[in-house]
Amino acid sequence: MTPQTSSDCLFCKIVSGEIPSDRVAESERSVAFRDISPAAPIHVLVVPRRHEPTVGALAEASGEDLTDVFRLAARVAEQEGVADAHRMIVNTGGEAGQTIFHAHVHLLAGVTFTEGRMV
Ligand code: AMP
Ligand code: ZN
Repeated sequence: MTPQTSSDCLFCKIVSGEIPSDRVAESERSVAFRDISPAAPIHVLVVPRRHEPTVGALAEASGEDLTDVFRLAARVAEQEGVADAHRMIVNTGGEAGQTIFHAHVHLLAGVTFTEGRMV
């Protein structure tokens, strides 16, 4: 069974408060905090409190936790005034740019999303 926290995981330490973060929202299952190196004026990471390495693994482990991450991301978008003007991005695997192997959703907003559209 996958442990629900990982002792050497940065995001587990942010969830526990051992490492500080600029927290903008939280729920029973998830935590949202500002990215330390923002790629857009609004750049928030939403992570489940439960440690799973990828969003796919999270979906297998707990649909409730997966749903809650997206629910909290949508609430943060509302709170930041960008409910109708944001992107949610998930990188999976090092080749796709994932650097932290604790599932997370990037909420990006505050730019005009005309360039770099992939889908
Ligand atoms: P990814 O590349 O999808 O794994 O995203 C990891 C994100 O975590 C990157 O955008 C980093 O800038 C961000 N990050 C790394 N360390 C911290 C930290 N201590 N606090 C907030 N965000 C962080
Ligand atoms: Zn973790």
